[in-house]
Amino acid sequence: MKGFLKELSEAFFPQNYTCDLCGRETFDGRNLCPECAETVTMNDGLTCPVCGRRTALEGLCFECKADIPAYDRAVSAMVYSDGGVKLITKFKRGGAYLKAAFADAMTDKCRELKDADCISYIPMTEKAERKRGYNQSRLLAEEIAERLNLPIVKVLEKVKETKEQKSLTKKERESNLKGCFAARKADCEGRTFIIVDDVMTTGATAGEAARILKRKGAKKVYIATMASVEYKREV
Ligand SMILES: [Zn+2]
Ligand SMILES: [Zn+2]
Repeated sequence: MKGFLKELSEAFFPQNYTCDLCGRETFDGRNLCPECAETVTMNDGLTCPVCGRRTALEGLCFECKADIPAYDRAVSAMVYSDGGVKLITKFKRGGAYLKAAFADAMTDKCRELKDADCISYIPMTEKAERKRGYNQSRLLAEEIAERLNLPIVKVLEKVKETKEQKSLTKKERESNLKGCFAARKADCEGRTFIIVDDVMTTGATAGEAARILKRKGAKKVYIATMASVEYKREV
């Protein structure tokens, strides 16, 4: 957490003396005030060794146990809650300047994925990218590739527009995503990928991406996101 805040403050100092979340003056050159900093939870506690989500218990979460994901391992920098949600929303809505701080935090996590040999990202359809002006996952992937000194490979193509996932269950998300990505065998064979995405919720997008890459000959597929939803067992 401290490292991330330091990065954030260094990224903006001295031009920014206001809190990035509430807009209040911070005076010390940091870009998150102490109250807002408290609301951002970094993923440095107990996490599931497969999906990378924060958990309460040691070992695999029950979801990964019940249905082992198609990707080999996922890591994420923050927990997708409170301040983390707000930071990511800001990043997606034009706050592209936040990319360096996010990329630093994600790169630290990616260093655990030692055998990765290239970086890629979850694509948007051309239409969606034109509308937003940029693909935030590609921006992050480029920053991470530079920090890890790994090549960036554009491997996935989004060939089908999908519905907004927010209100869908895990099963509905999986069928919504079916067939939405394409990849070429020549880009996949023998490679170990780190695929960058913004947020991991149910892991349906990560699963679909990993399935196609492996079908086309990828050796391993890792997923790196800015944040992931905490795993809570439904009782
Ligand atoms: Zn604040
Ligand atoms: Zn898990």
